[in-house]
Amino acid sequence: MKPTLYLVIPCYNEEEVLPITAPAFAGKLRSLIKGEVISENSRVMFVNDGSYDKTYEIIESLSKSDDIFCGISLSRNRGHQNALLAGLMQARGLCDITVSIDCDGQDDINAIDDMIKEYLEGCDIVYGVRKDRKSDRIFKRTTAQGFYKFLHFMGADVIYNHADYRLISSKALDALSEFREVNLFLRGMVPMVGFKSACVFYTRNKRLAGKSHYSLRKMLSLAADGITSLSVKPLKMITFLGTVVSALSFIGVLFALISWLCHNTVSGWASTTCIICFVSGIQLISIGIIGEYLGKIYLEVKARPRYIISEKTKNIDEK
Ligand code: UDP
Ligand code: MG
Repeated sequence: MKPTLYLVIPCYNEEEVLPITAPAFAGKLRSLIKGEVISENSRVMFVNDGSYDKTYEIIESLSKSDDIFCGISLSRNRGHQNALLAGLMQARGLCDITVSIDCDGQDDINAIDDMIKEYLEGCDIVYGVRKDRKSDRIFKRTTAQGFYKFLHFMGADVIYNHADYRLISSKALDALSEFREVNLFLRGMVPMVGFKSACVFYTRNKRLAGKSHYSLRKMLSLAADGITSLSVKPLKMITFLGTVVSALSFIGVLFALISWLCHNTVSGWASTTCIICFVSGIQLISIGIIGEYLGKIYLEVKARPRYIISEKTKNIDEK
């Protein structure tokens, strides 16, 4: 039996690039259908992540002109990770495999062939991994590499140079749907699902049109999400830091006592100020880190929906 494939593509304000890449996605599926690799029911599913431009209109008109396209729209912008999860959960139950891919043409669609090969050989998750970062600007390259190294150091293990281009089987999607967390970091969650997995290497191109939505601020927030939702190492580091500072203070107290006993207590203003600044700085950072986790717990406890679907194209299949 040929597997049914759903390409899941989150789109946020992509009116410029969608008309260029949509035919390429459809072309890829058609060639795989023709090659009898995947079934005729395979489709391209867009997720409009609350765009304020014409993205959803384009998705609707694509779905009217060609049944291979379908789409859903979220009630507001929820971010790449939530949009992707919404698409994956919509596709779950309708297909045997999903491949998530960005809509800007950066990920090489030809890697899908190798991903399907790995799936047919028994893998439930196949990660698309970039061969190198030549197509990135120097700033993006350095920050992105720092991002992976920092995540690793902080105890959040993710696959190096893998973003969100991956194949997931319906079996693994069922398992993923059991993960109820609101703070989403799919790159870290998917490896936790387990099952047999493999990596497929590809060259990442430049964006075909439009501009990146990942500013430095968004990347830093993604890194913070990644660390705090996958690891408690920062909290352990606070304890460690606290112990070191306490040990140092103990030496300081001994020093002060000895000085006092030797009648050597001169003004000492500078050293006192330095110690106060240092210790209060560490305290504030520590409280900040604890606050980050507390905020996460607060959001998890409220268990708000991770996304709300407001519209679907008419031709969408339902489970
Ligand atoms: N995206 C999204 N919601 C957002 C931001 C981005 O659905 O709030 C989508 C975007 O349309 C694209 C993908 O996520 O398909 C990756 O975004 P982008 O290309 O801007 O990031 P970069 O490739 O520069 O890291
Ligand atoms: Mg991109």
